[in-house]
Amino acid sequence: MPDLAHYGWDEELAEAFRASKSTGTAPGRIAVDYAQDFLVITGGGEVRAEPTGRLRRAVQRGEALKPAVGDWVSVEILQSGRSVVHGVLPRRSKLSRKVPGRTTEEQVVAANVDVIFLVAAATGDVNLRRLERNLTLAWESGAAPVVVLTKADLCPDPVQVGEAVRGIAGKAPVHLVSNKTGHGLDDLQQHLAPGRTVVLVGSSGVGKSSLVNRWLGTERQVIAEVREADQKGRHTTTHRELFMLPGGALVIDTPGVRELALWEAEQGIADTFPDVLEIARTCRFRDCVHEQEPGCAVREAAATGALDPERFAAYRKLAAELAAIEKKQAERSRKSPPRRR
Ligand code: GDP
Ligand code: ZN
Repeated sequence: MPDLAHYGWDEELAEAFRASKSTGTAPGRIAVDYAQDFLVITGGGEVRAEPTGRLRRAVQRGEALKPAVGDWVSVEILQSGRSVVHGVLPRRSKLSRKVPGRTTEEQVVAANVDVIFLVAAATGDVNLRRLERNLTLAWESGAAPVVVLTKADLCPDPVQVGEAVRGIAGKAPVHLVSNKTGHGLDDLQQHLAPGRTVVLVGSSGVGKSSLVNRWLGTERQVIAEVREADQKGRHTTTHRELFMLPGGALVIDTPGVRELALWEAEQGIADTFPDVLEIARTCRFRDCVHEQEPGCAVREAAATGALDPERFAAYRKLAAELAAIEKKQAERSRKSPPRRR
């Protein structure tokens, strides 16, 4: 049976739980969000639990927190064997992003995170402005950021890159590592204490999976996957979104967390291309994407040289990257995973 202390449960949470308690409920931590229900780790084992109607309505009215991976919740195991989530305990930190297409709605992608590894490749130019923004967002989330510069083995001058990054990192530690040679990986262990919850944020290809694989060692399959039998006894495998490393730290790895870097790029467009956005206001169509639309002021400006064509190309590249992600996100929310009990 899981010992909740290993998942970060402590006296302060116990206090909050006692204060919130409704009869017959037990605390647990959300390990997978299946959209309709959750996989929750409780002291009595893992259960699939869905929010009560009451909680759903309170969430809709904005009067209760919507459960997210990493949240501590109070669950009740009903006599029927079903389990329900009654509510979410106060969060110590949260990683969130804006829901695409809406301006104000916030979506929490991970809760109760202690350490955010901001991962970037040490090869070429590290984007210091972007890293600065990510550091600010990380501190605001309530978690502590740690900068990890990967691929040190491919970097001609790692010392210089390290110094440049330390120059803007403030209190956040900066580590240069190589997943290939193993250089610097031991130093990361100090941030992976038992019971601490970590996430890795950074663009695709920088080496986040490689790091997690290193941490998991050969136990990857066992630890990161959930195997469940459905009513017909068929086994299905899904990925655990919160899992424990052999050393006892907890990792939250979800598509939402992985894409944070690119959601942040959306803000990056506004910051980096204010001139393009200004010209776009005079496009004929408000939702012009500056590809084939008639009356596109941006394409025209690029054609006449009023907008540097190279700058236009850079803008389109970033916009295309974002569009691809939004598409993936939309597809994912259409097909929500199977519901079983
Ligand atoms: P992710 O998209 O951030 O999860 O990145 P991956 O972990 O999938 O790594 C992307 C590619 O970079 C893979 O081909 C890795 O083998 C390679 N890679 C990751 N870390 C390192 C590193 O430290 N050094 C070198 N040379 N290659 C690395
Ligand atoms: Zn246009």
